[in-house]
Amino acid sequence: MLAELRGLNEECGVFGIWGHPDPAPISYYGLHALQHRGQEGAGIVVTDGEFLRAVKGEGLVNDVFSNGKLEKLTGKAAIAHVRYATAGGSGIENVQPLLFNSTTGSLAIAHNGNIVNANRLKRSLEQQGSIFQTTSDTEVLAHLLKKSHHTSLEERAKQALKLLDGAFAFIILTEDEMMVAQDPHGMRPLSIGKLGDAWVVASETSAFDLIGAEVIRSVEPGELLIINDHGLRSERFSEPAERAICTMEYVYFSRPDSDIDGINIHSARKRLGIQLAQEIQLEADVVTGVPDSSISAAIGFSEATGIPYELGLIKNRYVGRTFIQPSQDLRERGVKMKLSPVRQVVNGKRVVMVDDSIVRGTTSKRIVKMLKEAGAKEVHVVISSPPLKNPCFYGIDISTDEELIASNNSVEEMRELIGADSLSFLSVEGMVQAIGRTDEGKNCGHCLACFTGEYPTPISPNTKLPHEKELVR
Ligand code: SF4
Repeated sequence: MLAELRGLNEECGVFGIWGHPDPAPISYYGLHALQHRGQEGAGIVVTDGEFLRAVKGEGLVNDVFSNGKLEKLTGKAAIAHVRYATAGGSGIENVQPLLFNSTTGSLAIAHNGNIVNANRLKRSLEQQGSIFQTTSDTEVLAHLLKKSHHTSLEERAKQALKLLDGAFAFIILTEDEMMVAQDPHGMRPLSIGKLGDAWVVASETSAFDLIGAEVIRSVEPGELLIINDHGLRSERFSEPAERAICTMEYVYFSRPDSDIDGINIHSARKRLGIQLAQEIQLEADVVTGVPDSSISAAIGFSEATGIPYELGLIKNRYVGRTFIQPSQDLRERGVKMKLSPVRQVVNGKRVVMVDDSIVRGTTSKRIVKMLKEAGAKEVHVVISSPPLKNPCFYGIDISTDEELIASNNSVEEMRELIGADSLSFLSVEGMVQAIGRTDEGKNCGHCLACFTGEYPTPISPNTKLPHEKELVR
């Protein structure tokens, strides 16, 4: 579904390149391929071997780097970031990469994920004299790096990264080195590739396709890559823990043309639709997917059931952000501006509406209503993931559990609330099987916490959600 319509948002995308004569324009294109992961701010920091230079701003990638701003970013390497701001965390000071200057050199950090023990670390650092410039949990890493007694940045990074709990994919840039780190559970996607002789790193492989780079592999859980003019070296700051890749990356967040650990997202979503067809029985005339992220699952469902796939809903692509309006009436208009039913397709038909998830239920309700107003005889809502019952502490802004419709209502109650003729969800087992991460032993695990409540890292009763914390990115 459309992320901005329903309160389920990815928080960031990261990109890095080392050893290229045009690192800023390449990063700019890379960020375009990651724009869906965050639309609130973007930034690029380059190194020319002597200085780090940054251009950052609030808004979309195109807006931030307009008017020739890229031209002053010359050098041989860059790191870049797109950001989704959680409540209370907006403001230019929080737009990444964060850049720190000191007498011993400069350092820039781009981060995707969420450090769940950031508040505790921040309090301890402040007691030791640190002064924080931002409300970002990412800044904690910079202070830990600075505080370390080790002389080499590599050893300081290993020591600092060991102290962090949660989900993190970091890219760190200094004048003469780029470091890449993935948390011990490997929760957020992060891949490495090559563009000619240059090394590239990105949250999603779609960024590699756009710049013409070749995918080499995923960054491993607990791995620290050191990239400089001598090449790439793989080190570890931690032994890998049981793998817990975010399942919602497959279900919803990542682009269909991206691969995570060799599994293509469109193909995985199509298998989710096929699995749904095996788990539920429905009689209907047409299948339609809620654009964009549910279309692959709808195609799979249609193929497996033989019910024809039709474009019953279309996305209106050139609408600005006018949908973020406080009043209910304006929000309804916002949905209508973003999505339209195709009357000729749904009129008089029993429609299967495939969606990837339901968060609050309000948007599903509006789409069901819209389809019925366009003449649909019946609307059967089919969700290609299990009910979302628990909040995410790892960098995805899922609403609090009070707001999650599935946390307080049975499936039948939800059906009634959204006004559908039937409502079905995929089973947890069916989802995991359909995604197909089955051949990698210890490395094939998923985070399923928002579905099952079983969190892969310790979550204390005091752990705050990203948008509840003093430190938010
Ligand atoms: S809780 Fe859900 S959204 Fe958060 S990391 Fe786990 S699977 Fe992803």
